[in-house]
Amino acid sequence: MIAPERIEWPRPGAPETGRRYVLYWMQQSQRSRCNHALEFALEQANGLRLPLLTVFALAPAFPDAGRAAYRFLLQGLAEVAPDLGARGIGFVVRRGNPADVVAPLAADAALLVTDRGYLRLQRVWRREVARVVSCPVVEVESDVVVPVAAACPKEAYSAAVLRPRIRRVLPRFLVPLPVGDPAVPWAGPLPAGEDIRGTQRLLDSLDLSGSWPRHAPPGGARAALAHLGAFLRDRLREYGSGRNEVGTDVTSHLSPYLHFGQIAALEIALAVRDAPAAPEAGEAFLEELIVRRELAANFVHFHSGYDTYESLPEWSRRTLEAHRRDPRPYLYSPERLAGADTHDPWWNAAQTELLRTGRMHPYMRMYWGKKVLEWSPTPEDAYHTALDLNNRFELDGRDANGFAGVAWCFGKHDRPWQGRPVFGTVRTMTDRGLERKFDMPAYARRIDALA
Ligand SMILES: Cc1cc2nc3c(=O)[nH]c(=O)nc-3n(C[C@H](O)[C@H](O)[C@H](O)COP(=O)(O)OP(=O)(O)OC[C@H]3O[C@@H](n4cnc5c(N)ncnc54)[C@H](O)[C@@H]3O)c2cc1C
Repeated sequence: MIAPERIEWPRPGAPETGRRYVLYWMQQSQRSRCNHALEFALEQANGLRLPLLTVFALAPAFPDAGRAAYRFLLQGLAEVAPDLGARGIGFVVRRGNPADVVAPLAADAALLVTDRGYLRLQRVWRREVARVVSCPVVEVESDVVVPVAAACPKEAYSAAVLRPRIRRVLPRFLVPLPVGDPAVPWAGPLPAGEDIRGTQRLLDSLDLSGSWPRHAPPGGARAALAHLGAFLRDRLREYGSGRNEVGTDVTSHLSPYLHFGQIAALEIALAVRDAPAAPEAGEAFLEELIVRRELAANFVHFHSGYDTYESLPEWSRRTLEAHRRDPRPYLYSPERLAGADTHDPWWNAAQTELLRTGRMHPYMRMYWGKKVLEWSPTPEDAYHTALDLNNRFELDGRDANGFAGVAWCFGKHDRPWQGRPVFGTVRTMTDRGLERKFDMPAYARRIDALA
């Protein structure tokens, strides 16, 4: 039984009769495990004694997503196909924008089920699909532990506001999701679609910019589970005290898998909760995975301008305005920043880590964003540069977390601190602070070794 708070009907109605299947349009939750939308679709199909067909619409472009993002995504889909097949569920990938892909298949569907995406384009896609199909449409929220509106009915000002609300309802949602079996397994041929076993061929046929970072991890649920297993075994117990230690890097590396929906936050949260590690380490991790991540989902869900400078709190825009004309010690163009070409070896190491691996250590991401603010001609330029670089180069970019993370560097979800040049009362970070706290040469050596 899926909690009713996860379910919304963009196009309500009774299932159409005389149709061939229930259709699950998979878009955000790109996985066969721990997927509420998939299990809900299966429940509906079983109730109607129909098979379940799943479709993924491979949009030819997504803002700021380049070759690396598409490769990661396709690697995940290549695993979904056999996994669903083994469960007796049909799966087809078709190239095109969702409305064009889903509508023809929905013509034979009694009901269309989809998952929830929070970004503007994902919402537009869902609205368009609901408008053009000829059957009822239901959306099931599966990529957060606590559904966004169940946690808080409006934009939360900070983690301090959201945390107690999430804690109050968490026991209701932090529960395993039962896995169903199809009453009528998919039989016979699948509708025509892309052959996703040949990831490379498919990638080459798309017009994408950028390249695969040499040391990027592979995409897919198996790689995600391997990361989770290694994290639980080797690093979770260090997480509470060592999360920020950039020289060693004990964090989970799960964000790209979460971003592409290749693993569920719920599955990770349950595994961490039940791990025989120190409870404080688990608490610290769940604070990031649930409270911080869902604060970001809350932000993009409730703030229509989540990707604009105007989404920053009034106090931070005011203080940045007051310091607009402060002399900047260094000014760098977006191109020099992208090329890791600044005077600061620690910042360059962080950007180089990003270029070589598609990720940056979480602590360095904060420092990185703060320095983009300090070294850009205006706070607006800085905001746009940070967002652009984050979304183009990070494997986990273009995510609610990215919009909230960049905005945080400019004061969002934070409070005023002691006043400083350029930043005003927005929190600063300094190279000397890094050197005091961490073994920065060890970090730089770790990144150098990736050459
Ligand atoms: C400037 C800036 C940009 C960022 N851009 C992104 C982005 O594009 N995509 C993205 O997923 N995260 C982003 N973050 C948040 C955070 O840095 C990453 O989630 C984290 O680095 C991922 O590494 P990990 O999976 O090893 O994290 P872990 O420490 O292992 O955390 C586990 C999970 O918790 C969540 N999480 C951790 N820290 C945060 C946080 N501060 N806010 C929200 N969720 C968090 C993530 O889903 C993460 O995978 C950004 C932060 C900053 C300061």
